[in-house]
Amino acid sequence: MTFISRYIQVAIPVPMRQSFTYLAPEHLNEQTFSAGDRVLVPFGSRKLIAIVLKVSNECDVADNKLKAIVELLPSESKLSSSQIDFLSLCARYYHHPIGDVISQALPVLLRQIKPVDLTPEACWFKNPDKSEQELELLIAKLAKSAAKQKALYQFISEHGDITWPEIRMAGFIKSQLTALMNKELICQGEVASVAFKCKENSINVEDKHQLSVEQAVIVSGINQQLNKFSCHLIDGITGSGKTEVYLQIIEEVLKQDKQVLVLVPEIGLTPQTLSRFEKRFRVPIVLHHSGLNDNERLQTWHRTKKGEAAIVIATRSGVFSPLQAPGLIVIDEEHDGSFKQQEGFRYHARDVAILRARQLNIPVVLGTATPSLETLQNALSGKYQYHQLTKRAGKSNIAGIELIDMAKQQIEFGLSGTLKKAIQDTLERGEQVLIFLNRRGYAPAISCQECNWIAECKRCDKPYTLHQNQGLLVCHHCGSQKRIMPQCGECGSIRIKPLGQGTEQLEQRLVELFPDFSAVRIDRDSTRRKGELAKLLEQVSNKEHQILVGTQMLAKGHHFPDVTLVAVLDVDGALFSYDFRAPEHMAQLLVQVSGRAGRASKPGKVMVQTQYPEHPLLQDLVHNGYQHFARYALMEREQARIPPFGFQALFRAEANSAGLPSSLLRDISEGDFEQCLISGPIAAAQEKKAGKFRFHLLLQASDRKYLHSAVQVILLRLEKHKLQHKVRWSVDIDPQELSW
Ligand code: ADP
Ligand code: ZN
Ligand code: ZN
Repeated sequence: MTFISRYIQVAIPVPMRQSFTYLAPEHLNEQTFSAGDRVLVPFGSRKLIAIVLKVSNECDVADNKLKAIVELLPSESKLSSSQIDFLSLCARYYHHPIGDVISQALPVLLRQIKPVDLTPEACWFKNPDKSEQELELLIAKLAKSAAKQKALYQFISEHGDITWPEIRMAGFIKSQLTALMNKELICQGEVASVAFKCKENSINVEDKHQLSVEQAVIVSGINQQLNKFSCHLIDGITGSGKTEVYLQIIEEVLKQDKQVLVLVPEIGLTPQTLSRFEKRFRVPIVLHHSGLNDNERLQTWHRTKKGEAAIVIATRSGVFSPLQAPGLIVIDEEHDGSFKQQEGFRYHARDVAILRARQLNIPVVLGTATPSLETLQNALSGKYQYHQLTKRAGKSNIAGIELIDMAKQQIEFGLSGTLKKAIQDTLERGEQVLIFLNRRGYAPAISCQECNWIAECKRCDKPYTLHQNQGLLVCHHCGSQKRIMPQCGECGSIRIKPLGQGTEQLEQRLVELFPDFSAVRIDRDSTRRKGELAKLLEQVSNKEHQILVGTQMLAKGHHFPDVTLVAVLDVDGALFSYDFRAPEHMAQLLVQVSGRAGRASKPGKVMVQTQYPEHPLLQDLVHNGYQHFARYALMEREQARIPPFGFQALFRAEANSAGLPSSLLRDISEGDFEQCLISGPIAAAQEKKAGKFRFHLLLQASDRKYLHSAVQVILLRLEKHKLQHKVRWSVDIDPQELSW
């Protein structure tokens, strides 16, 4: 009898390009192993968690050189083989180490050796052993002061099987829960771990809208194509009822007992989305986002994998959720930049979602009012099915955009006379204003009035931003900080003044200009503490503040019914940027913010301050709208053969001296590449950052095939190059930012 060794190939969740081969341990048959298993392996002097990629009969290494797997971990934490196929596909597409790709798909706790607790979560429900009368009596006995306990009892009896995170989110505390248990009003049990099944009352039909004709055509069109791959773009103006369309398609998928993955840019910013889903569907909904702790993430992952979660609402990395019975993927605001991961594994969640839908053979629906040019081109060329919603669902109208010519205006604190007047009028009518300035801090620089010296970060050669509230100078490029100096670093003069204006200063000036009204600032600085953003947004909707100042953070998805004036203070940077996507992003921002103005019954207005009101891009956008703007921009891109009419990859390299990255990039890009154009090495737009010198190499091809083979050749050269450990490098497929 011949004995055939079986080799177990694994990926280790670390950034290493290769996979590793092990033997099965003596106490386990090789056949026990299959793709997706979590195993413990010896690695150097350590033990690490690894994931089985495949089991094969062949191996280049002699058996006596191979080590054996230490342990096969419980199957609750196993990935499916279909997920391994999908993750391998992503690793190939992005030319990224498989181990690192897999670690994106695993909750942190499953990357660690420490055993995890995947026992079902505890939950609470109304005491089933007591009659309604008995319960009523017990409630009546609760002290008057125990209003919170009563409310919690109400909450639990209405929802049933409710978990601690849900109780906590609803604003209750542990002692109230314990009190109700002691009084035998409620009991504790375990969340039943069964795959989700749609029930009669799972859909709240009362909440459903009668669809408009446009909506109905889309819903029925897509609903006829469930259970196979198809990709749809819903291009609908803000408030045209895209969400209602998603909800009615989701309903159909849930009725088939299948799961739905909904990707959104940022959950913290759009609590309305969640509440709309919860109102419509009485099914288990789980959230996946960066605000969860490690254990909550693990629970979400596990409930999704068991098929218990019917709907997963997730940010970027949720695209790797381990769906057990996938039926549909929805990507809301598909144009949003936050879907692209800008470090490490640089995937784009929208593109990955489409790959995944294709692999799973299910539909994927992209929705937005301002499609990215990539997506729009795919829709116009017929690769995706193109659906449009051209009318608002409610009565309100989209706000028009008005350009303010700064050259013709008296300017005070960065505000033109026209804008000041408009703000005053709006406030006097009892409405709110929203003012965008995409610059955090008090001022983007400080300078000496005697000698024009500017305080610069030595590691980046860029001015420090003044953060007056904290008494700090902060480099927005590398994050370094120092205390504000009292004197000029050059001539010693004490006449140091801020240059330019950021949100912190703007807020202060607005308080001076409009002393009868309250202003609030919403940016990354003012919302750093957990819960702060929600608190400020709540105050805004309670009308405690009339003036909102903020960065782009405020442009996303909020619903402020009383904001009727939106002002954008400075768009000119985008008009002259060398980044070919800058005008697209500017147009998306302007259109999204005009969607914010006057969403309720009151009409809204958007005012944009610019030095270049005649600029053709602005003119086109203002007079002809995003649709027209986007089609024109596509024509320009086609002529220039840039994405989406060509494909790009960007190699970035940085080191302590300028010579190293540029010579590494030069060496690896030598010679000709079939059908692939290579530009560079050139210095990055910001050549120096955090003490490192940065260069890049841009690859462009008209066909992905050529791009990918060039990337492969370059990667092989890189990995053999003597400088590869002295230079930090990365490759970015379909880069979104060519600056850096
Ligand atoms: P979008 O997602 O395109 O911004 P929404 O789905 O949020 O649009 O719809 C905007 C508003 O119009 C919401 O308040 C929604 O409840 C309402 N709405 C949507 N569809 C309809 C409809 N067919 N009839 C009446 N109201 C609708
Ligand atoms: Zn000076
Ligand atoms: Zn710096």
